[in-house]
Amino acid sequence: MKLDLRSIIDSDGSRLPFRFEVDDSEFDFDTVTEFTSPVICEGSVENHAGALSAVGSVKASFSCVCARCLKALEKSVSIPFTAYLAEELQDEDSEDYYLIEGENVDIGEVARDALVLNMPTRFLCDEDCKGLCPKCGKNLNEGPCDCGEDQDPRLAALAQLLEN
Ligand SMILES: [Zn+2]
Ligand SMILES: [Zn+2]
Repeated sequence: MKLDLRSIIDSDGSRLPFRFEVDDSEFDFDTVTEFTSPVICEGSVENHAGALSAVGSVKASFSCVCARCLKALEKSVSIPFTAYLAEELQDEDSEDYYLIEGENVDIGEVARDALVLNMPTRFLCDEDCKGLCPKCGKNLNEGPCDCGEDQDPRLAALAQLLEN
């Protein structure tokens, strides 16, 4: 997704709004089962004393699973970004800088980077999710399983020692 900056590139104080759908086919997040609505990027490029910056956010809704109990979840994220646009990049420029080529900037790349770099690496159904029993696989949010209950407390203490 190229954004034509001609109208603001030489105009201090000007602003160019943008809104577009991010191609989600190239994302490969381990945590995301599938996107449930279009990934939308919106914001504007602003010219402050000749320096251009793109300020906006990427919004995505998707299905995923709880990292502990594997329950299916629907989540959405809204990731804000600020990207600096420059006609030449120096080696020392950070990853927040993007190249203006022929008065265009690849705003799709800015949106992809914002999402890839800031996507949470795991999701939980609840902060207090108890997860699955490592022995029998029962979902412990639904109640205790039999593995724990009839364990001899002395054995449990020994197991704890061995774990450490
Ligand atoms: Zn869970
Ligand atoms: Zn169990």
